[in-house]
Amino acid sequence: MSERPQPERLRETMSLPRSLEMADFHVELPDDLVREIQELREVEESEYIETVRPILRAIMANIRRVEGEKIRGDKWVYHMLPDPNDPERNNPLVVLPGHGCGYEKASGGCSMCNFAGEGRDATKQDVDEAMDFLISNQEDHFVHKINLNALGSFFHDKELTPDLRSYIYQRIREYAEKVGDKGLVLFVTEGRLDHITDKKMKEMRDGIGEHVLLDVGVGVESTDPLVRETIINKGLPENWEKRLQIIKEYQPVNVETHIIFGTPFLDESQTIRDTVKSVKDMIEISESEGDSRDLVLFMVMNRKPGTLTEYLARGDQYQLPNLMATAEALLKIGELVSLDSLKHVMVFGLVGPDVHAEAGTQYVGEDTESAELKAIHEILLNWRGLPEDLDKLRSAFDAVPKEIRTAVGYHGPYEGVGLTKEEKKDLRTTVAEAYYRLVTTFFPHLEGLSFEEISQYFKKVKV
Ligand code: SF4
Repeated sequence: MSERPQPERLRETMSLPRSLEMADFHVELPDDLVREIQELREVEESEYIETVRPILRAIMANIRRVEGEKIRGDKWVYHMLPDPNDPERNNPLVVLPGHGCGYEKASGGCSMCNFAGEGRDATKQDVDEAMDFLISNQEDHFVHKINLNALGSFFHDKELTPDLRSYIYQRIREYAEKVGDKGLVLFVTEGRLDHITDKKMKEMRDGIGEHVLLDVGVGVESTDPLVRETIINKGLPENWEKRLQIIKEYQPVNVETHIIFGTPFLDESQTIRDTVKSVKDMIEISESEGDSRDLVLFMVMNRKPGTLTEYLARGDQYQLPNLMATAEALLKIGELVSLDSLKHVMVFGLVGPDVHAEAGTQYVGEDTESAELKAIHEILLNWRGLPEDLDKLRSAFDAVPKEIRTAVGYHGPYEGVGLTKEEKKDLRTTVAEAYYRLVTTFFPHLEGLSFEEISQYFKKVKV
């Protein structure tokens, strides 16, 4: 066995690579390692997650540091987004300056996201300029939508200081008073669930006033802890559902939960079943709170530079889901939830975000030549969750000829919802073997250590 590296050397080692070696996913692993990974199939899920997660975080941190696409947070920026409730309207989403996602800095970030970021602190002047811009886009609409975000999580004190958050609330409150009963002010923002506390929600509600409607976007990605924590690296606390309840205590408020479609290491059938189950779970959680206007955002995976997804794709270990699979997942959700609930499921990710386009983002369906698949793409782009959307999607899906289904790699439709116990055991093996190959490629001095020893090694240091 090689000499054990000292944990304090990690940062030094991590800053050394200038380009990422591509891991060889076909190389045979040593017998004792294969045996050790096999044993991980039988341990408690929480134990498996605790063993694998430190290794995933180190892998993510290294991918980001070596070739992560840095989103500069030097000035406030905006993107125009279609309004899910009004086909005629686009709304600006503003992102304030900042130093990037705080979770990414602490934990390597989510494996599909490239919000690494570098920049400067946001200031009151930024808030004033952003608010003036947002207000100038409201024109004669009854709903005045103020969509204002940090570069990662609105509720992270290192991304936005408490003082600046208070100032934002004050500006929104003043604007709402000006609008009065001539309209409804809606404040939309996003944050990580682990940053949501009663104190922060109370400050927000007290600050913006009792009449401003709130939309809080949060990432859950998958309700299956194995998928969410060992592949997405979401880092949610075990009691994440309680955090949703905290938000709901500060009415009037809607929660927009992000669920990802197209997770690495899951095959086509599994990613459909995992996403369908997660969307259904989120609808059930939301409806258990009574009458709800919460949304579930069905986020179709993009390939972004500096992410695990992109790295795996370059090594032929990942493919974006195809449009047929995307349509099947939506159709399944349509079968499982009521028509009323379906109106709360929105589809995102099918258009490469402008801000990433030049950086090489790839998205599902961007280069299809088939008229039948283009029809599906169009329906999904204009999806409002209405019964007629579901009917149109069903007809378009059925109209795709067999040779085109095969050509795009689609082999469904599939049975069932969620992953089976046996599939989850196999997934544990696939993931652990892949991470061993990645981590020993990035940190060759770890080769020869057991999986557990590598996990312990990364537990001792912050990535
Ligand atoms: S998805 Fe959100 S929490 Fe995760 S790395 Fe990206 S910005 Fe950060």
